[in-house]
Amino acid sequence: MHSIPVRILLVDDDISQHSQFVRLINELASSQHQLHWCSDFTDALTSCLTDTYDVIFLDASKDHLMSRRLLSAVLSHGCSAPIVMLCDHQRPELKAKVLAAGAMDVLFKGAIDADMLERVVRYATMHNAQNQRNQGESPPICFDPLTGLPNRQLFMDRLAQSVSRAERDSGSLALLCFDLDGFKKVNESYGHDAGDQLIEMIAERLQGCVNKTDTVARIGGDEFAVIVDAIEHKTDLANIAQALTDVMVRPFSLGGHRVIVSSSLGIAVYPEAGGSPDELLKNADLAKQKAKTMEGCAYRFYNDQINVEAMSQLYREADLRRGLRRHEFELYYQPRIALNTGCIIGMEALIRWRHPVRGLVMPDDFIPLAEETGLISPIGYWVVRQACADIKAMDEMGLQPLDVAVNLSFKQFQDEKFLENTTEIIFSSGIDPKRLEFELTETAIMANAEETHRCMRSLNRLGPTFSLDDFGTGYSSFAHIQRLPINSLKVDRSFIKNVTENSEDAMIVKAMINLAHSLNMTVVAEGAETAAQMHFLRSNHCDQVQGFYFSPAVVFEDMVQLVMNDEKVVVLLG
Ligand code: C2E
Ligand code: CA
Ligand code: CA
Repeated sequence: MHSIPVRILLVDDDISQHSQFVRLINELASSQHQLHWCSDFTDALTSCLTDTYDVIFLDASKDHLMSRRLLSAVLSHGCSAPIVMLCDHQRPELKAKVLAAGAMDVLFKGAIDADMLERVVRYATMHNAQNQRNQGESPPICFDPLTGLPNRQLFMDRLAQSVSRAERDSGSLALLCFDLDGFKKVNESYGHDAGDQLIEMIAERLQGCVNKTDTVARIGGDEFAVIVDAIEHKTDLANIAQALTDVMVRPFSLGGHRVIVSSSLGIAVYPEAGGSPDELLKNADLAKQKAKTMEGCAYRFYNDQINVEAMSQLYREADLRRGLRRHEFELYYQPRIALNTGCIIGMEALIRWRHPVRGLVMPDDFIPLAEETGLISPIGYWVVRQACADIKAMDEMGLQPLDVAVNLSFKQFQDEKFLENTTEIIFSSGIDPKRLEFELTETAIMANAEETHRCMRSLNRLGPTFSLDDFGTGYSSFAHIQRLPINSLKVDRSFIKNVTENSEDAMIVKAMINLAHSLNMTVVAEGAETAAQMHFLRSNHCDQVQGFYFSPAVVFEDMVQLVMNDEKVVVLLG
């Protein structure tokens, strides 16, 4: 073996890298090495394919996209020489990607010495010899170089395995296929590099929302597929489908641009939608086409029966019920700030659903359903109980006694036990009931007015206060507001949004502040996001603010930290 020189190709446009290799090779104990240098990436493919090398070193420290494309091209043209990528310390995440894409090894430029080079070259030649012996025995590994995901070929292989397994165990599996609706436009408007970047981001998001055991593959330019093995409940698939579509609708950031892409997802379930990989793929594709033609429908099952089941309210209701039973809800807290001191003076409890498949689900996604199905009642009790427990926990930590606001839905008043149960929860928690505030919208106080008012007065006598939420968006008569035990008005964030640009909004907000003060109420501005808005509110004597400018809603532990550190909006105090 030593009598034949080892042929090394270096693809790198940097002449100093070439000089370094020459120097290192001269230092090697055996001098049976021939170094070839290719300084031009466009010539590199020809060079890799026409000559036979024992090992190829490919630079990926500058244009890593170009290098990965070259890697993929070289491999897909059947080049059998082991490829070692030369990366920068700056981009360690590249390592996993290029290895997954089929590179044999990765070296960090700058850390290469003669010893290391010799070891790599020796390993590569051995690897090469083994490969040649095994040729024809095993199929090549097929990964997409851009995303590191299995490509179509490997994907079909895995799908076939999954189908045989399901067949053997009388189990089931699902194939989810989807593509982007406007990928061509992204390429045209932002260039191909941006397109590649988008594909990479999508691959990452997709992998983030399936189990490690599920296969995610890139099966075409803008086509991806997911295999979900061993599904327990077929309807659980709706959650996976929802999770996949949820991550796709979040905007992508491409070179400073916010890009929103839409996608269509088709699902085929074995064995109903087909007994062979080809049939499943064809039917998932058909379902995908159907999803594309249906306005506002992001995913579609091939079988209509499953469509009906998965999308039915019954199913979504069962899911919500299960969430409640399994304690999947969490309370986040958003601080409320006093504008004259910049200090935190209270917080609003905002519910979140930590769904096992969909991830963190926001209240706007499930409160309406909870209201429709009556589940808002038990969920509402949970919220009050948890808020009381958190108040108690803060007291035990010795924090200053802050008020906590809890949102109430008008539906909760329709529960005839509401007053009784809520009183029970508050008193058994052992907190001072005055620390609780309930937020109600105008619609809530106007619906079923008499009953609601009685309830508010009774609760108020026990200690809790009330505020009028989303003020300005509904209709409530002045007479009503005046008669009710309401301590504060929360100006809806739609008025705050443009308060510094839109003089009409500015006028309305000023009028609301005056109205509240004339009724002896406190004014809280919702959704303050900028210093200018804060300035406007402060100079117009708004009492309190709640908004992203200071903090979004955060988990309880983080809220405690904010209070402990006595965080203030300092800019305002100057
Ligand atoms: P809301 O009562 O008006 O709550 C304020 C919403 O505004 C929260 O959204 C909060 O995260 C968001 N927000 C706060 N500051 C800013 C800002 O500066 N900019 C922007 N863009 N948004 C801001 P979230 O948590 O998604 O809650 C949405 C709605 O869900 C709430 O609106 C409330 O009506 C309802 N909700 C939340 N928790 C509960 C609950 O426990 N029970 C009931 N019945 N409804 C709840
Ligand atoms: Ca609220
Ligand atoms: Ca609000």
